[in-house]
Amino acid sequence: MSYKTDIEIAREASKQPIQEIGAKLGIDTADLLPYGHDKAKVSQAFIESVKDKPNGKLILVTAINPTPAGEGKTTTTVGLGDGLNRIGKKAAVCIREASLGPNFGMKGGAAGGGYAQIVPMEDMNLHFTGDFHAITSAHSLLSAMIDNHIYWGNELEIDIRRVVWKRVVDMNDRALRQITASLGGVANGFPREAGFDITVASEVMAILCLATDLADLEKRLGDMIVAYRRDRTPVFCRDIKAQGAMSVLLKDAMQPNLVQTLENNPAFVHGGPFANIAHGCNSVIATTTALKTADYVVTEAGFGADLGAEKFMNIKCRKAGLAPDCVVLVATVRAMKMNGGVAKADLGAENVDAVKAGCANLGRHIGNLKSFGVPVVVAINHFVTDTDAEVQAVKDYVVSQGSEAILSRHWELGSEGSAELATRVAEIADSGVSQFAPLYADELSLFEKIERIAKGIYRADDVIADKKIRDQLRLWEEQGYGHLPICMAKTQYSFSTDPTQRGAPTGHSVPVREVRLSAGAGFVVVVCGEIMTMPGLPRVPSAEAIHLNDAGQIEGLF
Ligand code: ADP
Ligand code: MG
Repeated sequence: MSYKTDIEIAREASKQPIQEIGAKLGIDTADLLPYGHDKAKVSQAFIESVKDKPNGKLILVTAINPTPAGEGKTTTTVGLGDGLNRIGKKAAVCIREASLGPNFGMKGGAAGGGYAQIVPMEDMNLHFTGDFHAITSAHSLLSAMIDNHIYWGNELEIDIRRVVWKRVVDMNDRALRQITASLGGVANGFPREAGFDITVASEVMAILCLATDLADLEKRLGDMIVAYRRDRTPVFCRDIKAQGAMSVLLKDAMQPNLVQTLENNPAFVHGGPFANIAHGCNSVIATTTALKTADYVVTEAGFGADLGAEKFMNIKCRKAGLAPDCVVLVATVRAMKMNGGVAKADLGAENVDAVKAGCANLGRHIGNLKSFGVPVVVAINHFVTDTDAEVQAVKDYVVSQGSEAILSRHWELGSEGSAELATRVAEIADSGVSQFAPLYADELSLFEKIERIAKGIYRADDVIADKKIRDQLRLWEEQGYGHLPICMAKTQYSFSTDPTQRGAPTGHSVPVREVRLSAGAGFVVVVCGEIMTMPGLPRVPSAEAIHLNDAGQIEGLF
């Protein structure tokens, strides 16, 4: 049997005008700022007007450690949202916007898949409502103002060897990772080493996703550290006086985008911070707006639960005062097999023993999530190649861990395939059993917080950091940054810092290579291993296959 591609399914969607989608959430036409017929931003006035309403239930979708087999967090988030609506609940979905660069590399779309997608998927995967372009512009304005300040005499005494504010572009372009700027003579300024990150790695992105309103946005932008002086004292964005103009550029980008699922249910798609050097979930403002307008909000955190859910809980929920009522942990039979040692090429053959062997990874995530005080349901995201015996093996394992697993077939069937999952998730969310608490208190030292995550979530024996790093953490504590949460940047493929260690490794250490302060976003980034903030394109980029067909439709986005 052959299946339609994501873009074919998306193209056949019968979309409703965005005003009708807004109406489902009680958002008047006057409060929707339409971008075409099927996308709209929600006005600041509306967001202000619903502030004091009670919140709906918050459901987090996370996953086991990713494997090349694919887990389908976004697909499950969308499918569960549709499932909840199908069983008569008023539900909305909240996910991240797509980064342009990776779409032309090899990643594939960010709008879900099969019959659980957000539309218009082409727009969402391309320019959408221009938010990322606005972020690139705001970021670039600050970059330009820093070099301009140096050019006109450098009154702030910026050490041009210690400018930490990089440039950004939303494209995978490894040639820009490290560059020399200001070449070409006196009129072009002082030559210095510089470099580019991809836009989603910009601190501006992280700030946009954590800011509660425009005033908070501007304050956080001002608090960003852009450079250091020779005496190592920081120079802030507010010293460059860029935060006001940056906020002007970001005014519209701060407003959440409303679109719809294939089944015409509301979906907020807003913001998209990297999940390594940032926290990897959609904007706080989208989530809070959704919670005020829907009874159930299904949202996704990037990567596996060791990174994505941990940051969702310890950074986003802590800072925004949110608390999940239920966590859905996505697992696939295929990924269990890969965790159990099966190569990608052999995934087609039934292998119950490998499924059982791979379940250790799932088990550890279940235990970790429960340590936050939240109830956990495992969603087995069904692939048509899964056999009944393999699915049963996952279910049995999950039951042995004191949890429950539900098979969900939203990719193949839409909400009809996820209704059972939705019913159970709604029951749990309504039961009020969640007693969410972050993993560590604000008052712990920065190093103790790192240890809490390494031992409590990664199950490492210890954290290895040399004196330079420990001294740096202590200095930040003295400067008043000690209360900040930690943003771990490590491989998403393993609980450990070694991407080849699948399953549930033990006996490992977490070596800290570098620490960075994101003073505006409000977290300390702890880098463990190689972290790439400007990806490259593969040998055969998917851009080679992306084109317009004779009808002017986009082909090759998947
Ligand atoms: P994640 O959010 O975890 O990165 P996505 O939901 O974006 O994953 O899915 C990644 C890819 O896998 C998408 O192209 C999607 O179409 C595909 N996919 C997801 N679930 C299934 C499934 N059950 N069967 C087949 N393909 C799937
Ligand atoms: Mg996703």
